[in-house]
Amino acid sequence: MTGGVTSSLGKGTLAASLAMLLQARGYSVTIQKLDPYINVDPGTLNPYEHGECFVTLDGAETDLDLGHYERFLNVPTSQANNVTTGRIYQTVIEKERKGDYLGKTVQVIPHITDEIKRRIKLVSSGNKFDIVLTEIGGTVGDIESLPYIEAVRQLKWELGAQNCVVIHLTLVPFLSATGESKTKPTQHSVKELLEEGIQPDVLVLRTEHSLSKEIKRKVALFCNVEENAVAESVDVSTIYEVPLKMLDEKLDQTVLRKLGLPAENEPPLIEWREFLRRLNNPKYKIKVGLVGKYVELPDSYKSISEAFVHSGSLNECDVDVEFIHSEEITEDNVNEKLKDLDGILVAPGFGSRGIEGKIITARFARENNIPYLGICLGMQCAVIEFARNVLKMEDAHSTEVDLNTSYPVIDLMEEQKSIIDKGGTMRLGGFRCLLDKNSKAFKAYGKTEIIERHRHRYEFNDRYLEKFKNNGMIPVGINPESNLVEIVELADHKWFVGVQFHPEYGSTVVNPHPLFVHFIKACIEK
Ligand code: GLN
Repeated sequence: MTGGVTSSLGKGTLAASLAMLLQARGYSVTIQKLDPYINVDPGTLNPYEHGECFVTLDGAETDLDLGHYERFLNVPTSQANNVTTGRIYQTVIEKERKGDYLGKTVQVIPHITDEIKRRIKLVSSGNKFDIVLTEIGGTVGDIESLPYIEAVRQLKWELGAQNCVVIHLTLVPFLSATGESKTKPTQHSVKELLEEGIQPDVLVLRTEHSLSKEIKRKVALFCNVEENAVAESVDVSTIYEVPLKMLDEKLDQTVLRKLGLPAENEPPLIEWREFLRRLNNPKYKIKVGLVGKYVELPDSYKSISEAFVHSGSLNECDVDVEFIHSEEITEDNVNEKLKDLDGILVAPGFGSRGIEGKIITARFARENNIPYLGICLGMQCAVIEFARNVLKMEDAHSTEVDLNTSYPVIDLMEEQKSIIDKGGTMRLGGFRCLLDKNSKAFKAYGKTEIIERHRHRYEFNDRYLEKFKNNGMIPVGINPESNLVEIVELADHKWFVGVQFHPEYGSTVVNPHPLFVHFIKACIEK
């Protein structure tokens, strides 16, 4: 799947929607994202660059589109599902250093393109999947994406047309002055693809207004695509409507026909439709504050926002998420800023900017009995707050922010202390956690052993465990291997849960995350 005309057309959502339809027809499908930037992975990127960094169970730091893939398909992804130009070059250069190219000049073609093709095939090695949907990041015509397009051209030649279908997503803008939808940008972007050697098989046209038959026919004619292989993708109110729209457009059937695969029974999508019905007909409405420091770009908290959608639907509740900048919260204005909220989520984050606002927020939630979910840094802030204001450890802090604190209640693990490299060196991926039966977390999960995904360097400092416990902040989730505290709760509170891991990554349409589900329940009850 390639994209043309502009970025942000929703290629990730389209890929996820198509894959979901194919999966519903009984095919095993996975989606892969190839990102044309030089970073080896997005782990070192500021969220303002490309939004949130999504973490897979196997500990890969990946593009946020993988989150969509998991949320739509309900199947875990892995490192193989996200490859960047940086990773491709790293592999090729390492091979060159080892002498693997036997004296050859190492070039973009064939060495880089071969590595791209190898990565595409790798994701389904052992014939794990019937269909691999590979999304090429960026826009056709970008310098960075050229090697990828060339790799696709070669792959199509190698596999044969019946085994490889190119879907191109473009934009058909609407000119309100003349009331017309214009197809020229699409024609140009298909020309661009043709110049790079690829004739797309299927076109998907993003548009604000539904397109006439004539327009689709015109696009088909000028872009040399079958008339029934042009689908439109009209703006919808939630991304979760897109699969149904694509079903109407028969996109799944078109792709299967081109692959020579049967497309017999139309999938009923019962669960999916029920999810949408509940989402669109809520019985309750709550307002939750999401306190973070990257709030100018909502994509920074993509998985959290989506987890609210899934768990909101399950609770038949419209969750209005208000993004609140943690830098703007002070002792003086906290009441004014947070008083209308039914629940508070303090978001993950790194570094010192905005952390005092998060600590003040945690205190406000604790003292006013407002349902609180603290994720990663959000848990750490709750711990710092409790130490300062309940345990009277006045300058308690995380050593991430204050190395000289007298009470390092959040601190680096011993094995982290010698690490200098920033890329891929955090505690990453799925870890086991055992739950105390007498806890809100156990009530939510309904089992004593869970696996959740992590992405952090700092930890609850064991040295203070007894003090916290004796004063009402209870460690209710413990990692059985390392004994690290993974969940804390307040004994005397309606619903106050801090988790060192990231529950948001694990929430899907079919399986909304239990902590979010129960957090929302607590907010509704409030
Ligand atoms: N900065 C904190 C740490 O590294 C929290 C990270 C996060 O919220 N993901 O431990």
